Amino acid sequence: MTGSGAQPPQIDTSRAHSARMYDYYLGGKDWYPVDQEAAEKVKEVFPFIVTGARANRDFMHRATRTLAREYGVRQFVDIGTGIPTSPNLHQVAQEAAPDARVVYADNDPTVLEYTDALTLSSPQGRTAYVHADLRHDAVLDDARLREVIDLDKPVALSMLAVTHFLPDEYRPQEIVRSMVDRLASGSFLVLSHATPDFNPAAQKAVDVYRQSGTPAQIRTKPEVLRFFDGTELIEPGLTSTHRWRPDGESGITDADAFFYAGIGRKP
Ligand code: SAH
Repeated sequence: MTGSGAQPPQIDTSRAHSARMYDYYLGGKDWYPVDQEAAEKVKEVFPFIVTGARANRDFMHRATRTLAREYGVRQFVDIGTGIPTSPNLHQVAQEAAPDARVVYADNDPTVLEYTDALTLSSPQGRTAYVHADLRHDAVLDDARLREVIDLDKPVALSMLAVTHFLPDEYRPQEIVRSMVDRLASGSFLVLSHATPDFNPAAQKAVDVYRQSGTPAQIRTKPEVLRFFDGTELIEPGLTSTHRWRPDGESGITDADAFFYAGIGRKP
């Protein structure tokens, strides 16, 4: 569903949700006891979850700024947005380019509650929020998205820390490829993804997610690279999040970050 139906989606507090667990790691307030319990279990078996989440957020900031400033991108579509954590993507984009247009999408009703915070646009820009599931919904066809985004012009499509919640049975690389195929030449795919490559213990975190009702699958470098099919990676290619165009010394290791990140440009 895309949130346009009569029934508002219900917040489920009976099981842990990835958006609220992520908010817990980042020190936010938007979680329930069930999320805290699952997040604490993850931290117990895999304490790097906190450094990894922060390094992923920092990558989002640098990637968005780089695309707005150096590549002149003015349209952003961010899928798997998460609960607002300041600054959000539209704030970073509009600070660099006040006329930037940003559409967010997530399938968690908790995120939907924060539509106002996620769409407080600069006067020159525009923002929108779409309640949608990456697995089933044609997010790029949503009328609310199309009011803000012109798909005939380049777009930065970001999927950060979200496709590892799509196990192979959903064919996530094909979902992403079909979206990239819809974008104009000169568009970008911005993607980050948890990996066991630097820190095999990350698999323990996946096991806790699965046990608490959230399917997840972390992937190796060749598997993550497949998401970029149809694009050409810009410098420095697919790297650990904290190594992607760093703006200082991150003070963390690849094992602490346990994520790959990259930006592909559609020729
Ligand atoms: N992109 C943000 C938040 C990552 S947390 C960041 O990198 O900081 C992962 C988010 O993906 C959560 O908000 C979760 O609700 C969302 N998500 C998970 N599966 C999804 C799906 N199938 N469709 C849309 N969003 C999804």
